[in-house]
Amino acid sequence: MNEALKKDFAAIVGQENVMESEADRFSYAYDAAVLEPVMPALVVRPESREALGRVVKLANENGLPLCVRGSGTNLSGGTIPREGGVVVLTNALNNILEINEADLYAVVEPGVITAKFAAAVAARGLFYPPDPGSQAVSTMGGNVAENAGGLRGLKYGVTKDYVMGVDFFDVDGEIVKSGSRTVKCVSGLNLHGLMVGSEGTLGVFEKITLKLVPPPRSQKALMAIFDNVNSASEAVAAIIAAKIVPATLEFMDNFTIRTVEDFAHAGLPVDANALLLIEVDGHAGQVAEEAEQVEAICRKLGARGIHVAKDAAERNKVWEARRAALSALARVCPTTVLEDATVPRSKIPAMMQALGDIAVKYRLKIGTFGHAGDGNLHPTILTDRRNKEEWKRVEDAIDEIFDVALGLGGTLSGEHGIGIAKSKYMEKETSRATILFSRRLKKALDPKGILNPGKIIGE
Ligand SMILES: Cc1cc2nc3c(=O)[nH]c(=O)nc-3n(C[C@H](O)[C@H](O)[C@H](O)COP(=O)(O)OP(=O)(O)OC[C@H]3O[C@@H](n4cnc5c(N)ncnc54)[C@H](O)[C@@H]3O)c2cc1C
Repeated sequence: MNEALKKDFAAIVGQENVMESEADRFSYAYDAAVLEPVMPALVVRPESREALGRVVKLANENGLPLCVRGSGTNLSGGTIPREGGVVVLTNALNNILEINEADLYAVVEPGVITAKFAAAVAARGLFYPPDPGSQAVSTMGGNVAENAGGLRGLKYGVTKDYVMGVDFFDVDGEIVKSGSRTVKCVSGLNLHGLMVGSEGTLGVFEKITLKLVPPPRSQKALMAIFDNVNSASEAVAAIIAAKIVPATLEFMDNFTIRTVEDFAHAGLPVDANALLLIEVDGHAGQVAEEAEQVEAICRKLGARGIHVAKDAAERNKVWEARRAALSALARVCPTTVLEDATVPRSKIPAMMQALGDIAVKYRLKIGTFGHAGDGNLHPTILTDRRNKEEWKRVEDAIDEIFDVALGLGGTLSGEHGIGIAKSKYMEKETSRATILFSRRLKKALDPKGILNPGKIIGE
């Protein structure tokens, strides 16, 4: 990048918010996906929304690839920049602009941290349910751009279910407004719907309006222990068939149970083949009744033990064990590949069987945990990327995992997005026409192709 252009960026964001040393640029060359880093030419950090818009405009005028970055926790290479391009950080745009208790909405800047937002909402007696495992660091902009999910997806839905509106910069740096602060709004095209999950490829969010809901009055958590995966899956189906929708319905396989126990000493049964971690919430009477029903269903379908959390401390212990799953698995080997192939709930036994077969076939360690209630499993491959022969087996295993998931009527990604990691599989899930349609849309909105090029649909 030439010096004059660097100066133009500095004039917008201030020299103190321009990073150009190799060390600084390297910090923004990768994200949480296991992919090769790519060095940007420049990293800038606008401190105002107005400066953010001017940065977008300047990048476009100069045909410069631009990658917006929240906290870089995405797992699909969504924030791996183009070589020679500019990375735009949103972490200075971190104001919660409004929490409206009368009309149940909030307005945030894109760099607000998810957990801080949820806590601020809770402090006002309200509830923002989407809870990605990364919420302590992820940003609201990143959540919307990836349509992030979380443990509460089954009952409460995912980020898209809470986005009432998005104001975003188009590629010329003009503000486009979509959605409203009203419960109902059908004015114009559903552009905010288009922005959710767009991974920074169509526009750059400057303000997001989010729906809030009243919090549940009480909760109860249970851990059901199973000797086989099929019984656990049948229990999941039977709970839903009984018209109970738990807030959370999580699964862990034996490999994950043993690894978590070794790490967190949470008292998990290391000989169990499957654990279901279940939470029901709502009015106290309903919660007590549903917890009893869930317990009875699990016992009927072969749970050899059920532990019902007696108080908040025990409840926290159940969820700490679940939250420890990824960190525990990540300790086993130098490289952790966290996938999120998702299948219809009824196909979980078939998917689990296939994952076991794939682990044997490719001689790999795979621990699987995830959101059993919505079929969103996280097969996690533990490996060492430096071992080229093993890494080839990992790549082949990933291809096969996606083939199986699609064959079972599932999807490439339940919540982690496509980025560059999974763009090559997109046509398999959709169709050639879908890719071409999406590319025409992108070309119309971003003729020079500067907005996060190569993500989702390739080029
Ligand atoms: C340990 C761990 C656990 C995780 N658990 C979950 C989980 O439970 N559920 C889940 O869904 N995901 C999970 N993730 C993935 C990740 O945290 C989410 O995708 C999250 O939404 C990314 O937020 P971020 O702020 O880090 O965004 P980034 O990674 O910085 O960016 C993600 C995408 O958003 C775009 N973007 C960011 N800001 C803007 C903006 N202002 N305008 C337009 N585009 C923008 C970027 O260009 C990029 O394409 C997990 C990741 C890790 C590492």
